[in-house]
Amino acid sequence: MEPLHRRRRKIHCDPDPPRQNATLIMLVRNFELDDALSSMRQIEDRFNRRYRYPWTFLNDEEFTEEFIQLTSGMASGDTEYGLVPKEEWTWPDHIDRQKARASMRKMEEDEVIYGGSLTYRHMCRYNSGFFFNHPLLLKYDWYWRVEPSIEFYCDLNYDPFKFMKDNNMAYSFVMAMPEYPTTIPTLWDATQRFAERYPKYIAKNNAIDFIVDEQKGIKGPYNFCHFWSNFEIADLNFWRGEAYSKYFQWLDEEGGFYYERWGDAPVHSLAASLLLSKERIHHFADIGYKHTPWLRCPTDDESYFSGRCLCNRHENFDEHVYSCLPKWFQIAGRALGSQPYRPHSH
Ligand code: GDP
Ligand code: MN
Repeated sequence: MEPLHRRRRKIHCDPDPPRQNATLIMLVRNFELDDALSSMRQIEDRFNRRYRYPWTFLNDEEFTEEFIQLTSGMASGDTEYGLVPKEEWTWPDHIDRQKARASMRKMEEDEVIYGGSLTYRHMCRYNSGFFFNHPLLLKYDWYWRVEPSIEFYCDLNYDPFKFMKDNNMAYSFVMAMPEYPTTIPTLWDATQRFAERYPKYIAKNNAIDFIVDEQKGIKGPYNFCHFWSNFEIADLNFWRGEAYSKYFQWLDEEGGFYYERWGDAPVHSLAASLLLSKERIHHFADIGYKHTPWLRCPTDDESYFSGRCLCNRHENFDEHVYSCLPKWFQIAGRALGSQPYRPHSH
């Protein structure tokens, strides 16, 4: 069904380090090759050269030979290249295309970011509902999402996958901020109805106070906070599970991926906040990271004085008025700028 390219890695002198059942994953287009290599180089230098986790590249078009050669050359581990199945990169039959086109035109006029783009919508829907069941990913339990053109500022001297597993984490993030309300006018309403219809999927000790202010609960208004999903280290089996599958199906039937412009970030965030108990969501305070236009740098002394990071700890999105991190720290019982949270040492 799909052309599958696989590159086995060079022979290494030292034995393979212990690894989790995990992959680095990048959904990317051929023309983003240079930006993809730049992200890879940093993740490799700062972390992966010591672990050699495999990379999985996905694309809605065939990767070029050049893309495959250069990215497999950059990787310290194996690489695999997969095609997104056509039927998962198109509007589902129930979408009224005329209505969707009209709303795209309107959003474009209103200068909503990516408001007029159909491929952006396919991408958001794919990241929301499908990537975790791609044939190349089925063998894995964990993934780390990497985007082209990110910056990764600090040595990561432990295995975050092992950290996630040992601490029973299911989802993690670095930055959090409010979503543009014009991209998701009815997402919260659809989510509230889902919660009402399927109370059994709502976790007991969930993180609803991250997404609804003043402890108003599920009936309160959404504050638009979301985890920025261009970085994610998470449990693939959470997305594959019954609760999230039902939630995605529910949203997909609403049609908001096309009639509006629902992003995978708010969708993942609402799901993680409602379907997981809040202890299972982790903020990586020890990671320095940039995805345009925002960056954050670890603020604790260890990260700063050890030389582990190449970023300015005073230049930090965490304390920006747009940052939702203070809200997260409130519910997680943490203080901004405190020691990175590492419950079990590694
Ligand atoms: P932004 O971060 O929301 O501004 O959106 P990006 O343009 O960075 O897209 C998010 C991710 O999806 C990136 O990894 C892109 O490389 C990828 N992406 C976006 N659109 C497409 C597409 O049409 N095809 C493929 N293969 N990847 C895409
Ligand atoms: Mn991006």
